[in-house]
Amino acid sequence: MIDKMLSTKVKSIKPSGIRKFFDIAASMEGVISLGVGEPDFPTPAPIREAGVNSILEKGTRYTANVGLLELRQAISRYLEKRFQVEYDPTDQILVTVGASEAVDLALRAVVNPGDEVLVPEPTYVSYAPSAILAGGVAIPVPTYEKDDFRLTADSIRGLITPKTKAIVFCYPNNPTGAVMEKADLLAIADVLRQHDILVIADEIYAELVYGIEHTSMASLPGMHDRTLLINGFSKAFSMTGWRLGYACGPVPLVEAMKKIHQYVIMCAPTMSQWAAIEALDNGLPQVEEMRKQYDQRRHTIVQGFRDMGLSCFEPKGAFYCFPRISDLGMTSDAFCNKLLEAEKVAVVPGSAFGESGEGFIRVSYAYSIESIKQALVKIDRFIQGQG
Ligand code: PLP
Repeated sequence: MIDKMLSTKVKSIKPSGIRKFFDIAASMEGVISLGVGEPDFPTPAPIREAGVNSILEKGTRYTANVGLLELRQAISRYLEKRFQVEYDPTDQILVTVGASEAVDLALRAVVNPGDEVLVPEPTYVSYAPSAILAGGVAIPVPTYEKDDFRLTADSIRGLITPKTKAIVFCYPNNPTGAVMEKADLLAIADVLRQHDILVIADEIYAELVYGIEHTSMASLPGMHDRTLLINGFSKAFSMTGWRLGYACGPVPLVEAMKKIHQYVIMCAPTMSQWAAIEALDNGLPQVEEMRKQYDQRRHTIVQGFRDMGLSCFEPKGAFYCFPRISDLGMTSDAFCNKLLEAEKVAVVPGSAFGESGEGFIRVSYAYSIESIKQALVKIDRFIQGQG
């Protein structure tokens, strides 16, 4: 009976393919998981202390809907210093419950029924479902291993219609680890400007790049006024459970998002906001420490897959690698199920991130080097057994 009451929009979306494997792995004994994109480091101690002290000293009430002014000021200083983008803390920044909330608010704020939202794939799992829940249509834009999983201006151009409203992407990318060079972004920006398309740029992995500088879409000429920059604390500062992110952009868009946010959320958690000020003002050396460790793991894992004979593109950002398993003659879903059964190692099928992820697996290296090495031995044994 209840089933009939559920909305067709909700019924039309599938549960996250990442959680599915995580739940299976959690229910089995002795599994090594390289499945989840969550830092294994604890939140740095001074940030945790700032959260605890805020409960003891600063109270536990709501903040302003848009977040503490002190935090918005810290975000503004941080973005200018790190990525050369300027936002006015009074009306261009909204503090959200993770980057996840910001993506949802942005799409709900701009999408009218039937509007098309371009979603370069393989990609983080929330964009297409959020576009659909907002009443829009998600249009996948495939990216390919031969292009290092970069998005190209040509691939976008061919998919633009009069209904195209926005594009939403994350670079550095989850699940491929791909990054965009400034020149790639400039070419894309040209096309998006010509067709008046809003960019929703999820830059949550901006701090986690290896041997390359992160370029923010909003820093490019003519793009500040047509880009919503989303970021958060989960990945760089290892603060997943604090549930804190933010969105920065043109005033009317931030105002529109604030309207939804004030009805459904009120404000992001107060103690997390105080902790985040400490993170932005003093936490960057710890971020750099963690980044260096991810970089070491990145070398180990990429080499490990290449030694097994798999093609493994070199990820230059985030903390994932994306080896190709299509030569083994099974789907990525079958590969992951069989690997879990045979060797108790959990990784995620590339197909969970869109059709163009088929033939690949996403392996997270946000795990200890010991777990990574153990998992590599087991995956190698599994692959050799398939021959
Ligand atoms: N955006 C991307 C690209 C992600 O990979 C993730 C988490 O995996 C999120 C957003 C979610 O971030 P948050 O914890 O800030 O909601």
